Amino acid sequence: MLRPDATYYRMKRTLLPPGFKTRAEQQSLVIRRRLGLNATQACPARHLAGLYGVSVTGNASLLSLLPHLSDEFADTDLVRERLLRVSDPALNFSALVAVVRGHTMILYNDQHSPERQESDIMHEMAHVLCQHPGDDLQLTSDIGLRDHDAQYEEEASWLGSVLQVPDAGLMWYARRGYSIEQIAARYTASVEMVTYRWRMCGIARRLSYHRA
Ligand SMILES: [Zn+2]
Repeated sequence: MLRPDATYYRMKRTLLPPGFKTRAEQQSLVIRRRLGLNATQACPARHLAGLYGVSVTGNASLLSLLPHLSDEFADTDLVRERLLRVSDPALNFSALVAVVRGHTMILYNDQHSPERQESDIMHEMAHVLCQHPGDDLQLTSDIGLRDHDAQYEEEASWLGSVLQVPDAGLMWYARRGYSIEQIAARYTASVEMVTYRWRMCGIARRLSYHRA
């Protein structure tokens, strides 16, 4: 059995721990089963968040959230300024995880396309599932301009993409001749995302192996 990502490993040094990719695929399938879904079905990011008790809020709703948040922080003006910053269209904010009094919430940019929202929320859920520690999970940190830990970001990017488009489902569609655009529509994913997964999973090579 060929490793789907063997080429990727040769081409690029990865910060992912050994076995991370295999576990990510398993996690994607296990979560789907818990939601009554199989590998060929889209796993809506908001359903996944709900499974883990994480609330999901668009940044357009941020201002209505402010009065509720103000009790939680000593420096309300600072929090207000930071929340306003993620509402700023010029910032091209994607999403972030905030923990308020032990409750985890994801704030995302609801101006982005539905496909982009799915991948943004999945990325943040991947941070939650990986239990990434650090200031970047706290609303009181410098959100929007935070420093990213390179390994955490690579883990979240990989897991987020696998949660959205699992290898097993991608291969199922590829073997039946679905185009990347058709597969993208099935997963509410962008064409760029499916193209990336197609390459990372070595689908073209495995298809020619399958047909030989
Ligand atoms: Zn991230």
